[in-house]
Amino acid sequence: MDITGLTINQIKKGLRNKDFSAVELCQCFLDGIKKKNKEIFAFLSVDEQGAILQAEKIDESISKNESLPSLAGVPCAIKDNILVEGLKCTAASKMLENYNAPYNATVVGKLKKEGCVILGKTNLDEFAMGSSTENSAFGPTKNPNDPSRVPGGSSGGSAAAVAADFAPFSLGSDTGGSIRLPASFCGVVGLKPTYGAVSRYGLIAFASSLDQIGPLARNIEDCQTIFNTIKGKDPLDSTSVEFPEKGKEDIKIENLRIGVPKEYFVEGIDPEVEKTIKEAILKYEKMGAKIEEISLPNTEYALAAYYIINPSEASANLARFDGIKYGFSEKNAKNLFEVYSKSRGKGFGKEVRRRIMLGTFALSSGYYDAYYLRSLKVRTLLKNDFENAFKKVDAIFTPISPVLPFKIGEKIEDPLSMYLVDIYTVSVNMAGLPALSLPVGKVGNLPVGLQIIGKPFQENNILEIGKRFYE
Ligand code: GLN
Repeated sequence: MDITGLTINQIKKGLRNKDFSAVELCQCFLDGIKKKNKEIFAFLSVDEQGAILQAEKIDESISKNESLPSLAGVPCAIKDNILVEGLKCTAASKMLENYNAPYNATVVGKLKKEGCVILGKTNLDEFAMGSSTENSAFGPTKNPNDPSRVPGGSSGGSAAAVAADFAPFSLGSDTGGSIRLPASFCGVVGLKPTYGAVSRYGLIAFASSLDQIGPLARNIEDCQTIFNTIKGKDPLDSTSVEFPEKGKEDIKIENLRIGVPKEYFVEGIDPEVEKTIKEAILKYEKMGAKIEEISLPNTEYALAAYYIINPSEASANLARFDGIKYGFSEKNAKNLFEVYSKSRGKGFGKEVRRRIMLGTFALSSGYYDAYYLRSLKVRTLLKNDFENAFKKVDAIFTPISPVLPFKIGEKIEDPLSMYLVDIYTVSVNMAGLPALSLPVGKVGNLPVGLQIIGKPFQENNILEIGKRFYE
């Protein structure tokens, strides 16, 4: 039996039945990583010793017949912009190459409390800026379905780790699509929670009003389990809220109204992707759901507004990396200004510098009203679009990406074409909504993901709707 292919529930059962021990299980995953990570490069660092130690503790509890926490012995991988105490946290940047996390992110603390075994930290676009994981300072992650192609980004390492059977689940972060896009490109399930549903404490801040942490897993049940473990109010993140459990409803597919926005099926979408998504929608229609064409009229402004708000917040958040407080510091500097400029010039990669410049420009006096303030107004319009749509429908179905996983190197020299990949994902972050990326088919060997967008705090509903696809 290949135990690296098991789901969380199967792992729990296997451990309980003593089919394998937590250490054996952990070792199997570590062996697989050792064999194949060189090729896929999903992990930036693997904590072999720490993982075995955690697994030994679980085995000890099992042998003493102690009651076990809910995820005892379940291995996982964590995106390298989320802090795990004692492990390096690089954000895939030279700036933080030698930075050791002094504490656990709240989500990591919750996973550890439930007995998860952390295998290591996964690759990403530097500071989560990108859609292909090629912006990592340490080299790109490959798509396990076709290693000549990108895994999507920025949580490419987290998605590839699950797709390559390096871990049954992983955590990623999503600011403009970074959980959903790699989930779609790698053929795994990914959930971007409602803004505020999951604590951001211990996540290296990118664009704070858009960032959310969420799970990537092999199936929806596992995603749901992890989401329910990490969600909830955290006094250390003032934007987090108590999750309102009353949002949960019994989903009857014949009462379900699904909205399909006409603005998402226009020129530029790959016809094979469109066909796969339309077939998936048809499947729901055949099951009895009512499919309605809807309009989200401000969609055409979403990407432009996102690429103002995102760099603006990034430029402010990344000001802390100045060569003085922590991180990379250039020694060869004549004065304080040179410490700043040389440390930032050398420590940050191209895309990060581009965003800082764009953001600084958009926020500068004279331009603030024209760019930043205007984008905030577009953000409100986008939110209103969704609110109006949700008066008529229960969920909104769209593609995750207009294109199939592309070749490594194909878009990296053309930032605008890379930004365009995010066209279907950024509105969800702008409106703070939950959305699921569900693998619903393949074109050749390349997976295609369906996006299921829900009302705020209706994660469990969109997960239940997603489950029906496989029935
Ligand atoms: N690709 C988008 C960007 O580069 C989204 C990134 C993310 O969600 N972290 O901003």
